[in-house]
Amino acid sequence: MGTALFIVDVQNDFTEGGALGVDGGDAVAEGITRLLHAHAGDYDIIVASRDWHDPDSDNGGHFASGEPDYVNTWPVHCVACTAGAEYDPGLDVASVTHHVKKGQGTPAYSLFEGVTDEGETVEQLLDEHGIVDVDVTGIATDYCVRASALDAISHGRHVRVFTDLVAGVAADSSQAALAELAHAGAELATAG
Ligand SMILES: [Zn+2]
Repeated sequence: MGTALFIVDVQNDFTEGGALGVDGGDAVAEGITRLLHAHAGDYDIIVASRDWHDPDSDNGGHFASGEPDYVNTWPVHCVACTAGAEYDPGLDVASVTHHVKKGQGTPAYSLFEGVTDEGETVEQLLDEHGIVDVDVTGIATDYCVRASALDAISHGRHVRVFTDLVAGVAADSSQAALAELAHAGAELATAG
């Protein structure tokens, strides 16, 4: 019976001052760091994802050609190997066991759509390590956190979302996402 921690897309472009920065992003980075310093040893694996888009394409229509709608099209963000795609400096990744990249040339909201630096999918990781329980943190509540948590549920895991360690694009859609996750079977909890 293993437990995993997901840290979804805590990247410079998604925190304050970034291309697509959300309010509370820096606080989420620092809060996750506090959780890791106190409880990293409680987790069998700690999986951190990064949105990692191609520089010379619209990544399957993910980057807006005109005005973004902030639902399906977005400002240019998290271009591979740029500062915006790096982890927020407030997040201490020393205890992260697996780094996942997603979104190369295509929209990818769930970390299950990515692969680790070793080329494994998250589904493979969970199976290999006998993961039953998944705690989910990160950005953004209403997009990549939502999609990653729903995928973990659909892969048969018990999911806890730490509501004090997530931040969303918009308040209404974040509330709706948490309600949807609870309805789908996720436990809403707080880390601290
Ligand atoms: Zn993206």
